[in-house]
Amino acid sequence: MQKNKLIDSFGRSLYYLRLSVTDKCQFSCSYCRGVESAFLPKRELLTFEEILRMSQILKKMGTKKIRITGGEPLLRHDIDELLKNLHALGINTALTTNGLILKNMIPKMVNVLNSVNISLDAIEPETFEIISGMPKAFHKIIIDSIIVTKKSGIPVKLNTVVIEENEKELVDLVDFAGALSIPIRFIEYMKVEQSKRYSVPIDIVKEKIAKARGLIKMKEKFGDGPAQYYKTNDGAVVGFIAYSSPHFCDACNRLRLTPDGKLRLCLILGGELDLKCMLRNGFSDEKIEHKISEFVKLKPFSHGNRQILEKKMNSIGG
Ligand code: SAM
Ligand code: SF4
Repeated sequence: MQKNKLIDSFGRSLYYLRLSVTDKCQFSCSYCRGVESAFLPKRELLTFEEILRMSQILKKMGTKKIRITGGEPLLRHDIDELLKNLHALGINTALTTNGLILKNMIPKMVNVLNSVNISLDAIEPETFEIISGMPKAFHKIIIDSIIVTKKSGIPVKLNTVVIEENEKELVDLVDFAGALSIPIRFIEYMKVEQSKRYSVPIDIVKEKIAKARGLIKMKEKFGDGPAQYYKTNDGAVVGFIAYSSPHFCDACNRLRLTPDGKLRLCLILGGELDLKCMLRNGFSDEKIEHKISEFVKLKPFSHGNRQILEKKMNSIGG
């Protein structure tokens, strides 16, 4: 059996890769990329051939699951082909998407995707428009995508970043997800450098939902992320993700690969290994593997008190 070479110096197995395939996005979510960001030129993005080579190397080292994210990953042409190839390597494949062009792509991905997370920040189309910068009519398209994905049989979860604009809709979001038997996760907003936005503490979110619908802690986990799950009195499954919680890092199992080919050990703390540079300068698989195994030993136990991102979330992948 292959030895797992993705063990950090605290004994954690980093078997879960969040792979961002683009920083491009149709949306300009106020909590993520905002309106002013430029996108990377195409030549800076890893090609699918480079992504597959990296995935093969990482699979050999211990990667079991790859979540394709972005920016909006479905904007990468032929993304279903990439998923097919990753699936063929025996990797558990997952996708995080804003849902806008998901519906029509489900038939092509149904056999090669193990799970999908769809972002849904609002029940009211007007609130969706304010947060995403997209026309409110597009809200219905996302709702349709959620329903079609659920019907396809692919396990699906919803993601909501909690900000002041959607705070009043949280219970409605729980009811919507519960009615479709889809778990929903509330994610604490992480500050991006220079942002003056207020971060709603996840305990306040929990309290609000507990008061309205009741919350009982579940033993079961849904996926490999850091969410803690609860069930409401109506049976809706609700997860909470708090970057500021002291437990967020304890069982960290993640590595991140940015769209321009940098391997990151932590979402928040900097420190990147430039894999694209190695891939484009003739490094052998063995040499790259050696560099990665040295790098993972540097993973910090936690991000400590630092809770501000130095890059926008769409250029890391969340
Ligand atoms: N475009 C896709 C989407 O929105 O689902 C995938 C990329 S997005 C960067 C990945 C995840 O990061 C989403 O669940 C999004 O809500 C979350 N996210 C973005 N900015 C965030 C922030 N500042 N704090 C917390 N979560 C954030
Ligand atoms: Fe785009 Fe997702 Fe960021 Fe919104 S959260 S701007 S949909 S990448």
